Amino acid sequence: MLKPGTDYTVEVNPRIPERLARLRELADNLWYSWDRPSRTLFARLHPGLWDAVGHNPKAFLKRVDEDRLNEAAEDHIFLGSYKRVLSAYDTYHGEPLRLQMPIGLKPGDLVAYFCAEFGFHESFPIYSGGLGILAGDHCKAAADMRLPFVAVGLLYRQGYFSQRIDNDGNQVATYTDSDFEDLPIDPAQRADGSEIHVHVEMPGRLVAVKVWQAKVGLNKLYLLDTDLPENSPEDRYITHQLYGGDKQTRIQQEIVLGVGGIRALEALGIKPTTYHINEGHAAFLVLERTRALVSDGLPFRAALEAVAASTVFTTHTPVPAGHDHFAEDMIWSYFAACCNELNISREEFLGLGGAGHGNDFNMTKLALHGSRHHNGVSRIHGDVSSRICGDIWPQVTPDESPMDYITNGVHVASFLAQEWQDLFDTKLGYEWRRRYCDPEFFVKVETIPDHEFWAVHQGLKAQMLHALRSRVTQQHLRNHGSMAHLDRMLKHANPLDPNVLVIGFARRFATYKRATLLFENMDWLRAITGDANRPVLFVFAGKAHPADRPGQELIRRIHEISRLPEFEGKLLMVEGYDLGFSRRLVAGVDVWLNNPIYPLEASGTSGMKAGMNGVLNLSVTDGWWDEGYDGSNGWAIKPAPEYYDDVRRNKEDSRDLYELLQDQVIPMYYRRNELGFSPEWVRMAKRSIATLLPQFNSTRMVMEYVNKFYIPASRQARRFAENDYAAARILADWKARVRQAWGGVGIRRIDAPVKRIPFGEAMHIQVAMNLNGLKPEDVRVELLVGRASRNGKENDRKVFQLRATECHGHECQFGLDLTPELCGKLVYRIRAYPYHELLTHPFETGLMVWV
Ligand SMILES: *Cc1c(COP(=O)(O)O)cnc(C)c1O
Repeated sequence: MLKPGTDYTVEVNPRIPERLARLRELADNLWYSWDRPSRTLFARLHPGLWDAVGHNPKAFLKRVDEDRLNEAAEDHIFLGSYKRVLSAYDTYHGEPLRLQMPIGLKPGDLVAYFCAEFGFHESFPIYSGGLGILAGDHCKAAADMRLPFVAVGLLYRQGYFSQRIDNDGNQVATYTDSDFEDLPIDPAQRADGSEIHVHVEMPGRLVAVKVWQAKVGLNKLYLLDTDLPENSPEDRYITHQLYGGDKQTRIQQEIVLGVGGIRALEALGIKPTTYHINEGHAAFLVLERTRALVSDGLPFRAALEAVAASTVFTTHTPVPAGHDHFAEDMIWSYFAACCNELNISREEFLGLGGAGHGNDFNMTKLALHGSRHHNGVSRIHGDVSSRICGDIWPQVTPDESPMDYITNGVHVASFLAQEWQDLFDTKLGYEWRRRYCDPEFFVKVETIPDHEFWAVHQGLKAQMLHALRSRVTQQHLRNHGSMAHLDRMLKHANPLDPNVLVIGFARRFATYKRATLLFENMDWLRAITGDANRPVLFVFAGKAHPADRPGQELIRRIHEISRLPEFEGKLLMVEGYDLGFSRRLVAGVDVWLNNPIYPLEASGTSGMKAGMNGVLNLSVTDGWWDEGYDGSNGWAIKPAPEYYDDVRRNKEDSRDLYELLQDQVIPMYYRRNELGFSPEWVRMAKRSIATLLPQFNSTRMVMEYVNKFYIPASRQARRFAENDYAAARILADWKARVRQAWGGVGIRRIDAPVKRIPFGEAMHIQVAMNLNGLKPEDVRVELLVGRASRNGKENDRKVFQLRATECHGHECQFGLDLTPELCGKLVYRIRAYPYHELLTHPFETGLMVWV
């Protein structure tokens, strides 16, 4: 019913007492997103309001009662906690600690990290899922280790959607506008206090972009926003929703991120030495940086060399269809002018994204052409990416391709429950927080007495069950369900009796994650869950992208099964998965289930969060789990071979899953001792923490980025820029010369191969190369020798270089005296590839010839 008259709203803000003035500072730094005591400080002022404002400190401070603040300012207990939190805050931001300093970077080195989403905390909704949370964790770890680092992203007015699930299991997506006043951000300002706005070109117009900043410890995250009065209504919408809108919206967002992001840094006077493109969305930064160098007078190819040598690209997608791409006409309508400024042909421009001849412009290809440091996010994903991206290096085999891998990690302070942190403080010594990456230190977890260990787990489980009940209740009553039915649904979710085996499955509902694999054989599942003495509760949660119909169908199906009488109380499909609920689940269930189709889980990170909380992984050995599983720290589902069809793979993988549940997981959980827990289970849970925490934390991950990429990229950046980019010009000219000549380059063997030699004797190898105008120092000729093995691969491979001996015209000879160090049957091969000492990776040209 409509009310007469107009509603006006006014928010009445409290004055914060002087004694508590620094609460504002705490609310304004994302430090709170990984420091639970500081969040608890707010919650204790008013638990109800804290929940009502979605655990958002800044919104909380604007709405809490002034009387309540005045009271707290006079309360010694509250002041004590307040001072403890501030002391921790000041220590964190104070003197850098010796062990935290990344070594190897030079003064002035700075990493700029670009991503389309960042997940710090549930109260800051500019993330959708794994990618964003990984980016948030990367920033947090960089802040922890005092890495010179800035991050760049987009400020979405609505962020990602909130999810409800209706009575029929349909996902209902709702978007709400964020009030930027409530977010931990401020407009970025120049020294004179003026706001920073930059502009990006769109067809026929300029779009204004406002730059905001958030504090991440001592580092900054810059966020870009087009919702400005000077923009047209359509342009104001560009940064409206994360992954919303159509292809046009997507390309515009990516232009704002890549092009606008570079201009924002420029306007701020920030001069990074390394640029990190985290997933292809940000790849347009390559074009903007190159354009700037070309307009300073550098030839295009030299400019691209300089840009690429200082750029890192991380791909997260294991299927080509998942890579962002735009139709040729569309890309051209946005970039024709840029192409002109780059001073290259349309064909050459489109080639940067692999477009032309009917192919779309692909952001992954652009990122690969514009970077010399590339990686996937697990060992398996590195291999998969080498294959998918193989055509960038056409003559290099995928196992040697410049595509490397760095396995993801998660931020320990954010995801390890406070209760575990407290226990480790007393049982392992405070220094455990410095020794995140030391597996030998973490063996100490195994010395914690079983009952103390189990008590912490049970406490966290009770908290999770409590949160679960309130979520399910809210969802059920809103959907007009009955109280009687609610009791049946929640019969096993009892915080007072957390002795039912709880298995969690929560992640994005993308079809490849096979959320419904558990329901492949309903009779078997019924048998497994039918024993009243050994009950099992499955908890499902997660969002499907609003455009992903099949993903939403999975949610509906699970909801439907949860309503079948025989599964009542054994299966819950819970709405509204976000960071807050995720933290509870990964610390509070007993088992974390993950069963994607191999090899489509690039890494997966929720299982890492679970594993470090002593929650046991039951998972397909895909992504990170292939590296994490050691036979004693969880359970592995060995994936059926890739060449089986989907039906057969589902059948085989689900059989593995049922057998593990039936024969191992459930019996082990219920083999309890007189103290009420299973000693075997506790042993495995301790192994889980001891082996997984030191390996899969974000400090280890960022350290790897530093050593593998950030240090070399910064070094290359300096080297290439010296003397007006002399090195970049030399390398670009050399590559052009090599590319021209390579088609005519050939290699053949000219000695007579011997079949047998006595151990200790040398054999001579001689090859002749037609260098087609290249010089002998332009190539490297190598002999690869190894032991023949049954699967056709070489083991113990060694590489030897052949030296140039003589040249006549185009033909040069190269030779080597090889004394094998092994007896037995050896295999060797000979190859040549272009080589220059300025190359970042020896195979970056992608050119190679074999004898
Ligand atoms: C960790 C996390 C994810 C990513 O989980 P995956 O296992 O990588 O799919 C997604 N959403 C939330 C809220 C998370 O906390």
